[in-house]
Amino acid sequence: MASPRRAGNVVGPSDTPASAGASPAIIEIPNTLSVKQLAETLHASPVDVIKQLMRLGIFANINQIIDFQSAASVIATFGLQAKLRVETGRKAAAAVREMRKQQLLQDTAGLKPRPPVVTVMGHVDHGKTKLLDAIRRTNVVASEAGGITQHIGAYQVEIQDQKITFLDTPGHEAFTAMRARGAQVTDIAVLVVAADDGVMPQTIEAIDHAKAAGVPIVVALNKIDKPEANPDRVKQQLAEAGLVVEEWGGETICVPVSAREGTGITDLLDNILLVAEMQELKSDPNRPATGVVIEAKLDKTKGPVATVLVHDGSLRVGDTAVIGTSWGRLKAMYNDSGKQIRRAGPSSPVEILGLNTVPQAGETLLVAQSEQQAKAVIEKRKQEQEAATRAVSLANLYDQINAGKVKELAVILKTDVQGSIEPVRASLEQLSTDEIRVRVIRSGTGSITESDILLAIASKGIVVGFSTDPEPGAKRLAENEGVSVRRYDIIYNLVDDVSKALKGMLAPVKVEVAEGRAEIIAIFPASKTVKIAGVRITEGKASRNSSVRVFRKDKLLSDTVVSSIRRFKEDVREVATGFEAGIILKDYNDFQIGDILQFYRIEETA
Ligand code: GDP
Repeated sequence: MASPRRAGNVVGPSDTPASAGASPAIIEIPNTLSVKQLAETLHASPVDVIKQLMRLGIFANINQIIDFQSAASVIATFGLQAKLRVETGRKAAAAVREMRKQQLLQDTAGLKPRPPVVTVMGHVDHGKTKLLDAIRRTNVVASEAGGITQHIGAYQVEIQDQKITFLDTPGHEAFTAMRARGAQVTDIAVLVVAADDGVMPQTIEAIDHAKAAGVPIVVALNKIDKPEANPDRVKQQLAEAGLVVEEWGGETICVPVSAREGTGITDLLDNILLVAEMQELKSDPNRPATGVVIEAKLDKTKGPVATVLVHDGSLRVGDTAVIGTSWGRLKAMYNDSGKQIRRAGPSSPVEILGLNTVPQAGETLLVAQSEQQAKAVIEKRKQEQEAATRAVSLANLYDQINAGKVKELAVILKTDVQGSIEPVRASLEQLSTDEIRVRVIRSGTGSITESDILLAIASKGIVVGFSTDPEPGAKRLAENEGVSVRRYDIIYNLVDDVSKALKGMLAPVKVEVAEGRAEIIAIFPASKTVKIAGVRITEGKASRNSSVRVFRKDKLLSDTVVSSIRRFKEDVREVATGFEAGIILKDYNDFQIGDILQFYRIEETA
């Protein structure tokens, strides 16, 4: 199928050495794959794979596509045997379709196929919005209802008597923001790539985000009407990004379209249905609904209004819905063509009225049996919200592993230069143990962006900057969401920290927190050897336990601690800005009037 997660599957035990006498384990790989995919399949570092290829006389870089024979030779050097995976997307689909037919015959549980939910992603200006419009124009569902489409954040089209639901907010930001709140509504990602412009940074980002979510990708090769369109170049770039199209032996379905002229749209929809079939999306329409909020707002006349995507079951007018900590008896529901409806089935988007507060996008909807039950659910959710640790940090990693909450440490890696990515990635992934796998789910050069942080939240991962720092917006987001972002400049330090974190031995980081400043305005003897500095606090405060540095004209004279602070001969705990005090420093008396004291404390944060 089109799952982009893994290029090959290990069929037998993967750690059987070739010399052990037993027949080697078999690895299934497609006809062609990139060096990177081969390395991932082998759980080996790309550097090792490249070395083996060199021994075979093949000089390949990490993104280069190699053929089955070359891959098989490399696999053999790992003591494993390669097997060609024959089925392509379509063949697999046919097999699954047959199986599903069989299953459906036997199915007594009331499960029925449900429409796929699709998000459109891709680089800016590649035609996401235009494509969504073009698809909407084929909207039989809407025209039946009079053709008036209204924007509720999602719409459905019907093709071959089957429906497809499209989320109307294109881009991986919305997609990942939802995932970050724990909701995965998307079944299939349509990756729009302009045939004249090719794979661009946000295309790669979208691929990373879809892969991290385990969502299959269908490529819409857009703007095919343009004279500059160069489909082959785009396919090559896609292959380098790990998406090998079907006609080149890969598994990625790629459909040429023109959103402007409306060509290829039906073909795209057909292929979406094909991928959907492989996923065997099912739901029981007779169950009470569960769903996810995709948009919500406060309407002046209608009150709180939310668009919910029904995930399972059916939602009905009169149901008591609970969404996050909001609830209400549903007064009315509207579909994507603005038509009032009484019932919304699986995968359908529906605007609902009757909630007591405005819920948040990404929150889940449940149907309660009674008002009491609704309130009980809300209470429980509040408790769960408090208990849930949303973000993984290096500091709490060990606890989370032990609690069984984390089986994989997802790392988002940003480096200053391209050349650092592979060595750092290889060093990190080698730290994987039986209990936890370390996996770099996204890597790239440049500053750490908000998109990196969102991906970390959604994947419960950490962000590592190798000689690079977060952008201000990303830093704020990370702080608010408790995402661990660390900068390293030496691989050893990075590997050492992650390795210690995996074992629960990470030493806390000491952070200096500035407390205040003071100027010495007088000096008094306290005893024969000890002097009191008479100071005025000019900034912040000074406290009895503060550390303190003594400066004379910017020259550091001493770094010590406060022994005591007095005001009017009384010992006090602290003095604030604008006040005067007498301060005795530990083991330091050699100050002069005009010296500056800088107070600080050391906090240990994990
Ligand atoms: P988005 O940023 O990905 O949502 O891109 P838009 O849908 O806003 O499209 C960006 C520009 O590309 C607009 O000027 C569109 O008219 C144009 N465009 C989109 N699809 C096509 C297409 O199939 N062919 C041509 N020639 N232009 C297109």
